[in-house]
Amino acid sequence: MDTTTLAQLGRELNRERTELVATLTTRLREDWDKHCENLTISDLIKESQGVPGAIRCLGERLEKVDAALCAMDLEIYGLCADCESDIPLDDLMKDAAEQRCPQCRASNYYHHDPATRQATAGERKTV
Ligand SMILES: [Zn+2]
Repeated sequence: MDTTTLAQLGRELNRERTELVATLTTRLREDWDKHCENLTISDLIKESQGVPGAIRCLGERLEKVDAALCAMDLEIYGLCADCESDIPLDDLMKDAAEQRCPQCRASNYYHHDPATRQATAGERKTV
């Protein structure tokens, strides 16, 4: 990936992260009376996981965006988090926070996501 594209995606991610932090902070305060003004991003993500619905989704998105920015810092951005092959640039243009190649995304639901696995493979029986 050329540095111009990388810088552009980095700016997009930074902007999205700023927006998500602002939205989450406001929603948590207005909807849940939680005051999160001075929390770190990881604390904010934790707070959002304690509430249902849209806020939780925002928190999950924030986590993904933050992880992508972290990968940029480590210079591993654009590599699949599972198999380390290159993520197609088209995919990154669509979603700059994408962390997996198409193959791993396809199998991710079954094999790679501990959160999903816990949620689906528990003792609980579906009726
Ligand atoms: Zn992969």
